[in-house]
Amino acid sequence: MKKGILDLLKDRKVKITNERREIISVLEKAKYPVSPANVYRRIDTKLPKVHLTTIYRSLEMFERLGLVKRTIFNTTNFSYEIVVGRPHHHHVICKQCEKIEDLENISEKFIEEVSKKTKFRIENHTLEFFGLCESCLKGTH
Ligand SMILES: [Zn+2]
Ligand SMILES: [Zn+2]
Repeated sequence: MKKGILDLLKDRKVKITNERREIISVLEKAKYPVSPANVYRRIDTKLPKVHLTTIYRSLEMFERLGLVKRTIFNTTNFSYEIVVGRPHHHHVICKQCEKIEDLENISEKFIEEVSKKTKFRIENHTLEFFGLCESCLKGTH
């Protein structure tokens, strides 16, 4: 069976608290990256509320462990998504309606170019595309 994020946390000897379990469950249900404030809002209302600071700290820890990735959409907002068991991808983001779509299987040839130019060994990258979606362009929302 494919290892989930909870198994990977166990492997890394991270204690799985109820709060962490709830945060992961929100991320697992999400189709697109979620901001810490949205994780907070989406936690099941039947469960005791998790403090927003705990959400920030847990997400940062998951990121250090390489389990989630942080995406910066503008100067004030950033969101997280689970990367475990998912192919590498980018996003297209509509600046008007804030729609986000995944973008997979695009040419990654630029990595080679960056490597050549800088003599760096590139280990990862973040690349997001901003613009206007088709509905916003046509005004058909
Ligand atoms: Zn749009
Ligand atoms: Zn890429």
